[in-house]
Amino acid sequence: MRVTGVPVTCRGLVFIYRLDGYDVVALSRVDLDIAAGEAVALVGPSGSGKSTLLSLMAGLLRPSAGSLRVGDHDLSRAGDAELQRMRATELGVVLQGDRNLIPYLSALDNVRFAQRGVPRARRVPAMDLLETVGMSGAAARTPGELTPGGRQRLSVAVGAAVGGGLLLADEPTSQLDAEARESVVAALSAVRDRGSTVVVVTHDPGVAARFGRSVTIRDGRVGAEGRRGEDFLVVGTDGAVHLPAELLTDMPPGTLLRVRRDSGSGELRLSPAETAEVRPT
Ligand code: ADP
Ligand code: MG
Repeated sequence: MRVTGVPVTCRGLVFIYRLDGYDVVALSRVDLDIAAGEAVALVGPSGSGKSTLLSLMAGLLRPSAGSLRVGDHDLSRAGDAELQRMRATELGVVLQGDRNLIPYLSALDNVRFAQRGVPRARRVPAMDLLETVGMSGAAARTPGELTPGGRQRLSVAVGAAVGGGLLLADEPTSQLDAEARESVVAALSAVRDRGSTVVVVTHDPGVAARFGRSVTIRDGRVGAEGRRGEDFLVVGTDGAVHLPAELLTDMPPGTLLRVRRDSGSGELRLSPAETAEVRPT
């Protein structure tokens, strides 16, 4: 059964954690467009704002400023009831660890439980979802009886269970061995092949490389982008650009770059002082 992917648009998105006496700006003016049915990896160092961005898309946090649209929903304006309905019927979240599994229910019943808010006629058969993630043989087992990779694939099925067009996953492959990691990536790809938009936060460059597009978040901003082996620099609303991580090792913060435009091709060239010329565009 195919689903219709949900697009996501962030414009000048800001999120601030308000703590006793001080604020933490976790996201500062993020601009990002994710097309319906696209698979995107969010990468970047720890503390850069990846989980915050995912939680905003999931409607678990509310934007402090700027706009965030998820399909037909304007999450900067939506009320609690709308957010709750959206979470129950349209999008799925795979939380870090196995926090979205109920330990005493079978794999099949975990998927069914996640579908309780979805009108019967719109439910994807729970067994089909287990099949999609390669877990149909373990339908009767409880999460505790599964391997770590199996539990994580079940989490993906539970995340996809609402049948919605958006699946969000936070570090779904951390703490897994290579084989289990591969099986989880395959499960996420299978969900994407059904038509869903899939957004995955990952530390693992190998996992990121398996998605069509990777977006680097650094210091609460969207930095570089890569698509099929090419790197892009994204210019923020304030004109700041962030370099891809690989270039940053050669050009640490504070490096002065000379910018020249080739008069013939129009190509931009960035050359750091005393270093070989690099051409990021
Ligand atoms: P990532 O997922 O990339 O590691 P996070 O989105 O978790 O980053 O965190 C972004 C920033 O917000 C960090 O500075 C982090 O310390 C801070 N932060 C995250 N969660 C909270 C919270 N619940 N309360 C206060 N600050 C937080
Ligand atoms: Mg995180």
